[in-house]
Order: sequence, then structure tokens, then C-alpha cells
Amino acid sequence: MNEPLNGITLESVQERDRRDPLAAFKQHFALPQGVLYLDGNSLGAQPVAATQAVEATLTQWREELIKGWNQGWFDAPERLGDLLAPVIGARAGEVCVTDNITLNIFKLLGYITSQAPDDRRAVLSEGGNFPTDGYIAQGFCQLRGCEHRFLPEGADLAEHLEGVAVVVLSQVNYRTGALRDMAATTQLVHAHGAEVVWDLAHSAGALPVELVKSGARFAVGCTYKYLNGGPGAPAFVFVHRNAQCGPWQPLSGWHGHSAPFAFDADYAPADAISRFRTGTHSALAYTALEASLALWQDVDLKALRDKSLAMTELFRTCLLDLFAEHGIEDITPQEGQRGSQVSLIDGQNGYATVQALIARGVIGDYREPGLMRFGFTPLYLSFEDVWHAARHFREVLESGEYRDPRFSVRGAVT
Ligand SMILES: *Cc1c(COP(=O)(O)O)cnc(C)c1O
Repeated sequence: MNEPLNGITLESVQERDRRDPLAAFKQHFALPQGVLYLDGNSLGAQPVAATQAVEATLTQWREELIKGWNQGWFDAPERLGDLLAPVIGARAGEVCVTDNITLNIFKLLGYITSQAPDDRRAVLSEGGNFPTDGYIAQGFCQLRGCEHRFLPEGADLAEHLEGVAVVVLSQVNYRTGALRDMAATTQLVHAHGAEVVWDLAHSAGALPVELVKSGARFAVGCTYKYLNGGPGAPAFVFVHRNAQCGPWQPLSGWHGHSAPFAFDADYAPADAISRFRTGTHSALAYTALEASLALWQDVDLKALRDKSLAMTELFRTCLLDLFAEHGIEDITPQEGQRGSQVSLIDGQNGYATVQALIARGVIGDYREPGLMRFGFTPLYLSFEDVWHAARHFREVLESGEYRDPRFSVRGAVT
């Protein structure tokens, strides 16, 4: 059962675990017995400390009632923003943890386009990006009377920036795992007189992100994927220090007001990152995320990247010989151009294969059309976990287990 996989022995991966500088983080996560979790790119695992943190907030609510808002609840969006900043290459005061990605994109589109010259009215979305980024841009354009365009997948960005005020790009593509060069792309977009909003959904917590060093001025991202903030954890918005003194953002709510408790009739935006807040947030959700961000303060992001690349490579190497035989196409990008996932296409049996793996406790996910996605999270996966996940994958393919009809039944969430 523990025969080498394509020459890679169990002992060799156990040795890698002994030398892993991030190995100690695993004990800070509560994972169910018997589960090999390769879906941290969709919903991160639970930090052990989150349980106690949420319970403490429940107690605070019970005992302190309304006073809790002055005991850390109200300023959580900025406090957590400052904790998150070093993980994404930003500085204190540049990140606000609030709302979700969809809403944060809407705010930035409004903020940016209202400062753009009259001959720049178009909003450009990336073809092949996570759909909500395009949907909200379309809704925004309908409301504001801007033109919406799609950048065709694989097209040369430089040729599509004429008349464009802002382009929304993912640093790591959610399907393929392809990584864009943030510095070069930002420079290119700025040189064409446009702005770029970076979506960090699949890069924040997956690899070192260098927002300020890359010259980025605007970014959004979520915290429930690689950052382990919990289901529906609040998202974040980054605005470079020098770009914060613009006009209103369009979702002008009382928490983004310069004096929320003055209860003035007229809106006046807060003068820093706080203007990107809208209304009342969930104190419980911020508590769970804060427990996770406490762990991130001690993560060496270079070690994170090294381990992520080593794990994706290990998984592929253990399986490579089976891909051609089973009609699976490996679309995982080359090392330097990869996020933290392995992406495999099998239009015929992809869905059933993922279900068969889940039945064995190996949790990945499936995205239409045909994509099997496996995310690798260096904080709570060991090399031994990756090896065993690959072993299960081989067994599922070699035995034809995925052909069992129960693996073809579709649920609402895939
Ligand atoms: C996960 C993801 C989202 C999710 O958006 P929400 O509004 O937070 O639900 C958006 N964009 C990308 C690229 C994603 O991967």
C-alpha cells in the first residue's frame, strides 16, 4: 500500500517533513481525522484559536452588550487591515477588512472612474476570471453609463487599454492557477494611463504578494480561502497611501463617514482607508479572522512559497505517468508562473473522479468545464499528506472506482 509512487518513497517525503521550517503550523489547525484537505483555495481550514476567540466574543456580547463596540468591535476593519498588510506587501493604514470582494470591486470602480479623464470611460474585465468580477463590473457600468469590455483570454493587455479607465485582473487565475507578473503588468497599465484593480483571492496567503513594491494602487481579496478566516469571513480592500485622497466611493455608508456618530444628514467621507467601509459588520466573523491573522504574523512568506511549489511539484510527479493513459490534461503552469494549485482537465470523468476522491477523504474541487482543482496550503499540509493524496488519486484511477454511478450525482455546491 505504501509502494513508491513514480519512484518517490514515503520515507523520502517524511524526511522532507522533518526538514520543513513551517511544520509547526499544522498543530494550530483543527482538521478532521482521516481528511486530506486540498481545498484550502476554496475554504481554508479552521485555526484552533478561532474556537476560543469566537467564544470569547460571544461572552463579550452576553456580558458587555453594546459596550463591545467600544472594546474592539468597531475598529476591527482597520485593526485587522493592519495585521493583514504585511502578508500582502502593504503598510499600516492601507488595508481595510470589509464586505466581500464583489462589493469592494464596485467601490473601487466608482472611486477610480470618477477621477478618470472624460475620454476614458471603459471598464475592462478579464475573460476567464472568476465570474463575479465581471458581473459586478457589468452592473456598475449599467448604472454609471460606462462601457464594459472583456479582455479576451490570452490576449495582449497592451492592445486593449485604449479608452479604458480601469482593468480588474486576478493575480492568480482561479481555474488554471496562472500567476501574473504584478509589477510588470501594473507598470504597463499605468503607462497607458489606466488603473488596475488587483484581485488577490488566490494569491493572498498563497504566496508573497508585494503590492507596494509592485507599484500597485488598488487591490481586493478575500480572507476565507488561503487566509483561513472562516466561511463568509470579511474581504479586504487595499488603496495605496498616495491614492486615498480621492472622491467618494459610491457605497457611501455611515461607517465610511468621517464622523459616523455625529449622525449628520450629509455624507462626508473619512479621509483615510476607512472610507471604504459601508455599514455594520459582523463582530463574530472578525474575531475568527483575527485568530487566523495572529498566526500569519509569524509566517516566513519565502518559506511558504518554497513549500507551496515543492508540494504542487510532488503531487504532479507522483501522478504524471497516469495522465496520458486516463485522458487527463495537466494545465498547471510552470513553477515560476504558478499559484498554489494543481489544475487538471478531464471533461469526461473529472467530476466523478473528484467525488470518488472525496469519498476517500481527499477533498479537492471541481469547476465546469472539466476542471479538477487541488489547492496546496503550506501551513497545514505536510509532504506526507500530499503523498497519500496522490496515492489515493492513483488508486481511484487504476481501479476505475470513479465509474460507480453514485459519484456522478451532482450537489448544489461543487
Ligand atoms: C473567490 C473569488 C471571489 C469571491 O468573491 P466574493 O464577493 O468574496 O464572494 C471573487 N473573485 C475571485 C477571483 C475569487 O477567486
